Amino acid sequence: MTNAKNEEQTQSGTECTLPPNPKIDKLRDTVLGRSEREEKEIIEYFEWQSNKGRDDDDQITVRHLEKMKTEVVFGRKYALWDVHATDGRWWVVTNPTNLYSQTEFPSLDYLLSFHIGLMARVASRDARKAGRPDQDRFAAAWRRWEQAASAIDNASEAEDFQAVGMKCRECLLTFVASAPEYVELQDGAVLPQRGNFKEWAELIANWSAPGEHSKDIRTYLKQLSGSTWGLVNWLTHTSNAVAIDAELAMDATHHVLEVFSAAVVRKESARPDRCPRCSSYQLASFYVPELEPDPPYVTVCQACEWESVAPRDELGKE
Ligand SMILES: [Zn+2]
Repeated sequence: MTNAKNEEQTQSGTECTLPPNPKIDKLRDTVLGRSEREEKEIIEYFEWQSNKGRDDDDQITVRHLEKMKTEVVFGRKYALWDVHATDGRWWVVTNPTNLYSQTEFPSLDYLLSFHIGLMARVASRDARKAGRPDQDRFAAAWRRWEQAASAIDNASEAEDFQAVGMKCRECLLTFVASAPEYVELQDGAVLPQRGNFKEWAELIANWSAPGEHSKDIRTYLKQLSGSTWGLVNWLTHTSNAVAIDAELAMDATHHVLEVFSAAVVRKESARPDRCPRCSSYQLASFYVPELEPDPPYVTVCQACEWESVAPRDELGKE
């Protein structure tokens, strides 16, 4: 339509010609106050998302983009981008980043409300996942915890909350079930029964945090496991339990898994406190049974990238 008008005016011989339609691919150069770094990020995100599974000769590219606005909601900043691509116009909203078709969402304001709601629901779902780097070592116990977490979302009556207690209980028992495979017992020690969580947890604490300098850690592990076991069992027997009781039991169980698996991994990986090459404290252990090292861990220095390819040999030189 604008083109037709331009022609009309030129034909009628007016001196005043309207500027021609700008070329969309050059338009970006005229936008003030833009950040190329930000633009690059959005373009890379958009093209990566849009070209998943596409052939090389059929790639979608960004022709133009502009940041329309930023808005802070509950302390989180969202940037809203208008993206012109070879396959149409899109909105890209950040933090976390997602893209939406402008045909489906003509209103930017409405879209922001939708995006924030969607991201809140995704975040809520992810919070129910165990999400621990060393969870591979105790995958079965973490799976039980996730089951408890998904049960609590649909719990509304006292018996539902009691059931969450049952699931936490199973989770803790699953955690100690494999202890006989790795805990080295002191001479003359009597093996507790399989269902005796408290005694197994104490054995794990004694084994994973031995010696005078770990006394407080050991005490903490024992108190924590004992009180969590008590709490979880109380919940299973409490007929007037409410949602907050179940949440508490679940968080406590999560914490037990977290600190006990960290203690076990530290002990099993025989990780030195400092990097033997650069003396950094930034050491991380990765559980890698598939590589069959003995013990099944690789320790990596995050400062100098030193790796304990043969952990026992390296440690022997200390
Ligand atoms: Zn290092």
